[in-house]
Amino acid sequence: MDKSVNLYVVVPCYNEEAVLGETSKRMLELFDKMKSDRLIDDKSRIVFVDDGSKDKTWSIIDTLAKEHVEIAGVKLARNAGHQNALLGGLMTVKNDCDCAVSIDADLQDDINVIPEMVKNYIDGYDVVYGVRNKRDTDTVFKRTTAVGFYKLMQIMGVNIVFNHADYRLMSRRALDALADFPERNLFLRGMVPLVGYRSTSVYYDRNERFAGESKYPLKKMLSFAFDGITSFSISPIRIISTFGAAVCVISVIMAVYALVEKLLGNTDSGWASLMMSIWFIGGVQLLSVGLIGEYIGKLYKEVKRRPRYIIEAYVNERE
Ligand code: UDP
Ligand code: MG
Repeated sequence: MDKSVNLYVVVPCYNEEAVLGETSKRMLELFDKMKSDRLIDDKSRIVFVDDGSKDKTWSIIDTLAKEHVEIAGVKLARNAGHQNALLGGLMTVKNDCDCAVSIDADLQDDINVIPEMVKNYIDGYDVVYGVRNKRDTDTVFKRTTAVGFYKLMQIMGVNIVFNHADYRLMSRRALDALADFPERNLFLRGMVPLVGYRSTSVYYDRNERFAGESKYPLKKMLSFAFDGITSFSISPIRIISTFGAAVCVISVIMAVYALVEKLLGNTDSGWASLMMSIWFIGGVQLLSVGLIGEYIGKLYKEVKRRPRYIIEAYVNERE
């Protein structure tokens, strides 16, 4: 290896006063080791992003940054949410680094695979996903909801890496490409695969949060899942259209049935016409809603103004 890598580790923190001391200690130890292995250079940094915390998080980060040259802090003006804080951190550091790793402050994700991520970067990978081997330490509830979530996303046609959260390494050019995604509803683990470039995964066992509480209560988790689906897929609209078409078909069957019953004299007066109109109008209404939804879906895709392509290489480019 000719040159060591300039690595930035970005850590979003929301009310993490209980974990920051331990987290920074473990991170610094890892940095020392990677430096002595000549994997990363002296300008590498650990950047804590304070996402508008209400506790002492920022003053701890501030002190840490004064004590250690390796540590830097970014303070957001208000709580912007995990995804926004993470993107904010990555975009702040992207022009200073060769590659950046994002990781949660609670170290549930094993930092000891960071050297492996960096080695993959040196081998030419632009994106390295950290993937959980198993979820023994999560509660049964968290585990089943998480697995259900990944399955649902796949059914909805969103391309995400199974059991990968936001623990990943991205090269500078992958970060530059990510910067071209102008959308406001962030769902990074769905966006990064859209960037493309060569990617790979490293595997690790997920630990328990060693201090503090989860900042993702059920309400936030549900809204995150809902955002993920609605930001990436218009399948819900398609489901309405399909349902509407199905009801229209059923309405024909019901019409035949109602007519037959009427001809056989088994019906009260008015029943057949009511039956037929309820089914028919119901089907037409659903189909119409779905159709309008299709246009809204198209609008919605346009409004996002995502890049249509990302060029990976241009061979023989003139000076
Ligand atoms: N986080 C954040 N802003 C928020 C909520 C969470 O920056 O509004 C950070 C939090 O500090 C942590 C990471 O996002 O570093 C993941 O949160 P947590 O560990 O609580 O989620 P869980 O692992 O329970 O899903
Ligand atoms: Mg956590």
